[in-house]
Amino acid sequence: MNEFYPAGLPTPRPLVDPATRPYWDAAERGELVVPRCLSCERHFWYPRGFCPRCGGTEIEWPVASGRGTVYSFSVVRRAAEPWGSHTPFVLAHVMLEEGVTVQGNIIDCSAEDLAPDLQVHAVFERQETGDLPVLRFSPLRNEG
Ligand SMILES: [Zn+2]
Repeated sequence: MNEFYPAGLPTPRPLVDPATRPYWDAAERGELVVPRCLSCERHFWYPRGFCPRCGGTEIEWPVASGRGTVYSFSVVRRAAEPWGSHTPFVLAHVMLEEGVTVQGNIIDCSAEDLAPDLQVHAVFERQETGDLPVLRFSPLRNEG
């Protein structure tokens, strides 16, 4: 059995507020930014208007490499609609090079490639024209 996990999972429209606007503006450009607190100088995830460690509100939004490593994953085989008709799909925790762990879907990946420590990179997927780009991860393939 060699399953393949394609793009195209239904995703509810994300909520965009002024605090997360820098993230979404970057996503529109195809760039992943990971917020960083200017007080304690650490990255954090998920995007929000304050640091979850120290409460600081001075935040910068540096562009991340987008590269990370699968820390853990689960192949979802049963789900309620609208996801039920898209099983199996992969939900994973990815450790980014910036040191934060991001939950997301692994796409464009086959079951034989899926493993802990798989090297992945961020991709932004749009469901339909006009939709917000949604963060996913796909395997980082050695070219050549
Ligand atoms: Zn902080």
